[in-house]
Amino acid sequence: MSASSRCNTKYTAGLLLCAAISSSSAFASNYIADTTSDDASETMIIPIEREFLPAENESDKQIRKLLQHAPELEIIAQLNNDVIHFDQAVTIQFGSQDGPLYDPQLREIQVPYQFWSDAVKLFSTQYEKNEKQAIYKASMDSLLHTLLHEIGHAYIDIYNIPVLGREEDAADNFASVILLHHVENGDDIALHAAQLFALEDAQIEQFDNLDFIDEHSLDIQRYFYTLCLIYGSNPDKHKMLFKEIDQQYKVEKEDICQDEFERIHENWSLYLEQNQIDDEADSAKP
Ligand SMILES: [Zn+2]
Repeated sequence: MSASSRCNTKYTAGLLLCAAISSSSAFASNYIADTTSDDASETMIIPIEREFLPAENESDKQIRKLLQHAPELEIIAQLNNDVIHFDQAVTIQFGSQDGPLYDPQLREIQVPYQFWSDAVKLFSTQYEKNEKQAIYKASMDSLLHTLLHEIGHAYIDIYNIPVLGREEDAADNFASVILLHHVENGDDIALHAAQLFALEDAQIEQFDNLDFIDEHSLDIQRYFYTLCLIYGSNPDKHKMLFKEIDQQYKVEKEDICQDEFERIHENWSLYLEQNQIDDEADSAKP
């Protein structure tokens, strides 16, 4: 199937919808209730470290500098402190050769600087040249979703969470649920991440068997499923999603998406609550 037949004009119109979303990314206060287990107070939250490898060319040097000073990345630190607790060291390494990926041996999340330049290039096709701030915001939001996806892999690995299905889908769901439930305006961030999936899909001219056997769902599936969770998290706010779907199926899908969000949110919350570390009890120690 060609990209043009998959990305019809209605579908492209759906993408444009994402261009109008707002730009705030402060934190939500509706954190998960503290349900620390008795022995958890013995453990300390180990903060996720960030490492920036030396850049090899001018473009990467600029990206390195930008990411080193990006205030948006503090969202990850805040979530790490409040919701996503680790009792083992996890490092985000920017500037790797491969990735984005999570290496379970090193407990390392690796993100090449090129991820940023690729995202900027793709989003530049959706905005006017002078909309640099919008392109920056969309790229940063996609990076945040990607980092949370990889943190999802780390969480599954460190807490031995059973995954009954594709781990890649579980990591996508982790990223979306965290954004939609724990980050103020996290739906804007998730919408940009969905938009990047759609833009990546639009680049594919023809699928081959390797696409279907890949551990990830297809980009177009990741696009629609992320939209599904965004809709399910707040149906009143996101009535405009799924415009590209026929009305009859749209109504059916909307119902399913509410159930899907609730189910996935409840299941992830179970583990996030179970693995909460009581930092207050810990800091109260002499
Ligand atoms: Zn993954």
